[in-house]
Amino acid sequence: MFILLLYMTMAQTEQVKGELRNWIRASLGLKCLKDGLVEFISKEARKQYDKHVGNTIKTACVKDYTCKSCLPDTLLPYHQVRNGQCNQSNCICSRRKTNSRRICPAGGACGIFYDLITDEHLHKDPFWFNTNFDQWSSENGYFEFIKCFISTPGYKTKSIFSELDALALLSICQNNRKLNLIFQGKGFPDLLEEVMYFYVICHNGMLFFIMSVMQVSFTSRFEIHRKG
Ligand SMILES: [Zn+2]
Ligand SMILES: [Zn+2]
Repeated sequence: MFILLLYMTMAQTEQVKGELRNWIRASLGLKCLKDGLVEFISKEARKQYDKHVGNTIKTACVKDYTCKSCLPDTLLPYHQVRNGQCNQSNCICSRRKTNSRRICPAGGACGIFYDLITDEHLHKDPFWFNTNFDQWSSENGYFEFIKCFISTPGYKTKSIFSELDALALLSICQNNRKLNLIFQGKGFPDLLEEVMYFYVICHNGMLFFIMSVMQVSFTSRFEIHRKG
């Protein structure tokens, strides 16, 4: 923000002003997109989470879903318990031999929940690195559940929806089966590509602003010095 204010104060050339206008427009657009998606996705995440927890409780024959002891290195997914086979490309069961894993002590609940998340993913390939397994049954479980649909790393420590950026939210809309169905024909995947493009140029853009500020600042000082 400081850089932006400094830049606005010092920007002198038309080219720089044009870049600034485009930058602000794109940033405001992303902010509106993010605000709208946060509200919608958080409601949908709660609905889906409640449904999957309900099914988990039923299948595991337990009173409630409360396990907080399963981790990616120890959990045995339900499909392994059921038929000993796996057809998922990035499943945790392929990372270590099955006999070094154990069934979730709460009637296999976490393994069942794991498989339900996988089924909810459009390509049956959730991004497990963004979620905390031991918080699936917590109050914030719905958020840990929805983070499994973000296909880029860097969200594991995020704990509230407002900490997710537009890219992550669009990724959820694309990878979550139900959300994908809702948004089908609403500009996907073009919108996602455009937002990704903005994020890539974002860093270059910031660099451009900083360089512009430095350049304008240097030129002004040089001219003042020369006139003096
Ligand atoms: Zn597997
Ligand atoms: Zn468990």
